[in-house]
Amino acid sequence: MRAAILHAPRQPLVIEDVELSDTLPNEVRVRVVASGLCHSDYARMVGDRACPFPALLGHEVSGVIEQVGKAVWHVRPGDAVIVGAPHCGACRECQAGRLHRCDAPPTRQGPPRITLGGHPVFQFVDIGGFAETVLVDGRAVVKVPDGVPVDLAALFGCAVISGVGAVTHCARVQPGALVAVIGCGGVGLNAIQGARIAGAERIVAVDVNPVKLEMAKLFGATDVVLGGPGSAEQVLELTKGGVDYAFEVVGRPETIVQALAMLRRGGAAVLVGIPKAGAEVSLQTDVIFRKELRVLSTRSGSVSLQSAVEWLARWYLAGDLALEPLVARRIGLNDIGQAIDQLARGEVARTLITFDTRGGVGPETARPSA
Ligand code: NAD
Ligand code: ZN
Repeated sequence: MRAAILHAPRQPLVIEDVELSDTLPNEVRVRVVASGLCHSDYARMVGDRACPFPALLGHEVSGVIEQVGKAVWHVRPGDAVIVGAPHCGACRECQAGRLHRCDAPPTRQGPPRITLGGHPVFQFVDIGGFAETVLVDGRAVVKVPDGVPVDLAALFGCAVISGVGAVTHCARVQPGALVAVIGCGGVGLNAIQGARIAGAERIVAVDVNPVKLEMAKLFGATDVVLGGPGSAEQVLELTKGGVDYAFEVVGRPETIVQALAMLRRGGAAVLVGIPKAGAEVSLQTDVIFRKELRVLSTRSGSVSLQSAVEWLARWYLAGDLALEPLVARRIGLNDIGQAIDQLARGEVARTLITFDTRGGVGPETARPSA
């Protein structure tokens, strides 16, 4: 099967023919319908965060089950699913329903699941979604709720759950709250729509790209501020003293500092963006104590995909949660390189790599192969 492989940081992805191993009893094989491009993939491509090579990135995936292992009961071939991160189901966190915090995600048993010329290929988040097919732990897949288009359901797997969940399950934004969101990419736009649905009174969108600020308004931003060194002061002025919650959805030390600087008394900076490995932030402790500020961090929206998927679908079906407007482009696997350049420039919300679900050729086969 074809997959976009990263051989080393800062190298272009190469479309390769890789081998998938047999499906183990605890696994499912999923024919990918859509796979989103997230900044967390990009961080591995440029070496901001490490991973083994060769690597198969992609972790925002939906598809159709092709094969289920003998020990998997909750899905069957033909089911449309969203692929999430694996969890063990037995650790303290899983037992408490916090599957996203699993202490001991099932380690891969047996031979490598994906190989390239006999060498093991690393599957990012144990998914590896930039491929025609994924082989994953059965517990990682969740059925696509009725009424949600299968390709758009991929967005639930990362952008939607990470952005919306940061608001609903990490910060627990209350109606009437004052909110700022720094970074209006795929995840930040979801924090904005989450805050709108939660009833925030003001939602100030901050981004260095004016196009993103226009998009932010469509998702519910009430005010916009151009990102940069003076943005915290502008937010303080606009909100007459600062916001209750500032979501940092860029992943840079300077925007984390800005998030803290735009808070009012008792406010919380919510760290969603993931900085470069080893990054440090220096905090003005005087201000933190004087204003009784809080710093929160969130991973995958601080909620499990399994428990969130039904209410997210209800919000979508009620017309509250926008999915299609998040999709800037649908591309074939061969065009992934160009889409990565756009992601690097912060130009688009989400790009979906889509595959023909009728089991035949993907849209990219109309072009010469890369
Ligand atoms: P993206 O590239 O789509 O969006 C980033 C946005 O930030 C862009 O609109 C860009 O213009 C803007 N930006 C860049 N520099 C800025 C600055 N100095 N001030 C204001 N805006 C600025 O990225 P994404 O996929 O939405 O991901 C955002 C961040 O969230 C990344 O760090 C990613 O790794 C992280 N992430 C975290 C989780 C989690 O579970 N915590 C999940 C997914 C992604
Ligand atoms: Zn992601």
